[in-house]
Amino acid sequence: MPLPLASLSLDLDNLWSYLKTHGEAGWETYPSYLEIVVPRVLDFLAARKLRITWFIVGKDAAEPKHHDILRSITARGHEVGNHSFNHEPWLHLYSEEQIEAELAQTEEAIELATGVRPTGFRGPGFSFSPTLLSVLARRGYQYDASTFPTFLGPLARLYYFATARGLSKEEREKRKKLFGRITDGFRPLRPYTWKTPSGPLLEIPVTTMPIAKVPIHVSYLLFLGGYSRTLAKLYWRTALTMCRATGTELSLLLHPLDFMGCDDTDRLSFFPAMKRPSAEKLVLVAELFDMLTSAFTVVPMGEHATAIAARSGRK
Ligand SMILES: [Zn+2]
Repeated sequence: MPLPLASLSLDLDNLWSYLKTHGEAGWETYPSYLEIVVPRVLDFLAARKLRITWFIVGKDAAEPKHHDILRSITARGHEVGNHSFNHEPWLHLYSEEQIEAELAQTEEAIELATGVRPTGFRGPGFSFSPTLLSVLARRGYQYDASTFPTFLGPLARLYYFATARGLSKEEREKRKKLFGRITDGFRPLRPYTWKTPSGPLLEIPVTTMPIAKVPIHVSYLLFLGGYSRTLAKLYWRTALTMCRATGTELSLLLHPLDFMGCDDTDRLSFFPAMKRPSAEKLVLVAELFDMLTSAFTVVPMGEHATAIAARSGRK
């Protein structure tokens, strides 16, 4: 019997976007670590013969100095998706015109850099709105991947704010929905179709633990791994078993920081797992990948979306 599908995606958040959201000085010069992390992740995936989806930020794609590095993603057979232009987790506050411009600008920049126009979208910080979904449907997107069905979003936000002392009251207000709301925990785990004024749009949620709805993405596993690697692996094994037992196909989320450590940058130590060296983190990430690929067939999100659409067409 073929293994069930698991789609894998990496949000290519850059150094500047983390500094910006966290209210740190210096983001305005757009510091970047793409030249370190992109080749490292491409090699890691190639060694495992895996292809995934890379959600790219338009502002980075618009920089000619990034073009070679971003083109290496599509050249090696991966999918590229749209992760907004300015990476502002308050995208849900944008007007329809602003959303339209944000999407169009990013599509053009990504196509120019990589040679491929994106047809999948993930909002920065899991931000989305009915207007956004409608604009995505109108622009012919194959899927949205902005929902994160967990009850723990507000807890992650509290932790984040506790370390972000530089934010003003207004800046905190904008970030009020960062990582989502408690009610997001009631959102479905399985893919479904949004009905928007411009037509249907497939939603592929970021998978969380079936029933408990606690996060299972790699950054969270690395956070647990900071306390105990055995615990992180046990937790991951439970998640994979629960997904298999409930017939839940996975859509697993990755971040650049899953592959980086304090030896790569010392400006992101407000992330718990960024106090550890990259080599140590990569050992655990490799083990987590081995566990995943022995239980699931890993594909990029676009292929997952095509498989879902084919199945629902047969019903
Ligand atoms: Zn992001």
